[in-house]
Amino acid sequence: MMHSMDYIERENRYGAHNYHPLPVVLERGEGIMVWDIEGNRYFDFLAAYSAVNQGHCHPKLVKALTDQAGRLALTSRAFYNNLLGEWEEQITKQFGYHKMLPMNSGAEADETALKLTRKWGYKVKGIPQNMARIIVCNGNFHGRTITIVSMSSDPDSYSDYGPFTPGFINIPYNDIEALERELINPNTAGFLVEPIQAEAGVYLPDKGYLQKAAALCRKYNVLLIADEVQTGLCRTGRMLACDHEAVRPDIVVLGKAISGGMLPISCVLADDEIMLTIKPGEHGSTYGGNPIAAKVAMAALEILIEEKLADNATLMGELFREEMRRFNSPLIAQVRGKGLLNAIEINPINGKTAWDLCLKMKEYGILAKPTHQHTIRFTPPLIITNEQMHEAINLIQLSMTNFI
Ligand code: PLP
Repeated sequence: MMHSMDYIERENRYGAHNYHPLPVVLERGEGIMVWDIEGNRYFDFLAAYSAVNQGHCHPKLVKALTDQAGRLALTSRAFYNNLLGEWEEQITKQFGYHKMLPMNSGAEADETALKLTRKWGYKVKGIPQNMARIIVCNGNFHGRTITIVSMSSDPDSYSDYGPFTPGFINIPYNDIEALERELINPNTAGFLVEPIQAEAGVYLPDKGYLQKAAALCRKYNVLLIADEVQTGLCRTGRMLACDHEAVRPDIVVLGKAISGGMLPISCVLADDEIMLTIKPGEHGSTYGGNPIAAKVAMAALEILIEEKLADNATLMGELFREEMRRFNSPLIAQVRGKGLLNAIEINPINGKTAWDLCLKMKEYGILAKPTHQHTIRFTPPLIITNEQMHEAINLIQLSMTNFI
């Protein structure tokens, strides 16, 4: 019989070392729980970086996936299929946009948004060829492609991957004056922003930032592109994080929980003036918009609405922050977040890092992952109940007490 260490050693030996996972080998999941191969049960407080908002193996998603897999999985976009249009209708009506363009990963959807922005810049705004600029924020995380890491301010993301794609202007996050200084340039086509910077460590901008940014983008005829790959789909307590400020971006980028963790699905939403600048043959993806994806994504969105997961994220998030703030531990420097997108800043004590605390929490049955050296993200599936949240908080606090 193989033990956890055997699985880990095999991955280390045959797999690329582009991740540094916590030493736990999972083999089963249900709801907010996962089990390792030794049969130990854990609260999943990462939820696959917010892809599993609906909980592991949600029966409705399993059914959608398996039913469709046995009927028609992939047609490519060379032909029509009977489900893509239904999904497009559902999602555009839900979010209030004319059209949707399906892709697979979050990075691909962000790339799609960047292409749309440049096309719109040339075809509609009239920017001279190859002069389009897109404003981005320091601390951003939009994925891992060469173009996307060209916009990154994180050396781990961009080092040794040059030469980089030109045309991106970095400004500080949450800085309206810096934004306006760049928007004034008439060659500016778009402003790409995360409503909350999740990967950077769950950084919330000041209240009103998005609203002011949206107004300025309108003033200077620049597209506002919201990367809601991680913040979207009820994670922060609203369907989109932009909804908190009643902001309607020109382009919305979605991924992760759009499939509830079943398979890689992503998409971009925009109105005709933007979306129809891309003509047949000018962009696409073999798997984008496949029948399984359409079926699963429709079910995943239904679950978010039927189970009122935005409201639950609000309630459970408040409970989490309140209890963790009340908990008197020298380990905790700050608790911050919105809905169920939360982070705790750890005071390094005796040289111990957030990683060490995550190892300790694992012993107590909580799986969470550091993002950067001193920050731990707490993002369970949105279906977590009051009772489960209390139990998890108790375990997190116990592990902190016994850590120092
Ligand atoms: N955009 C944001 C805001 C993300 O958080 C992520 C992933 O964490 C991505 C894009 C990239 O998504 P993917 O890993 O599916 O390419």
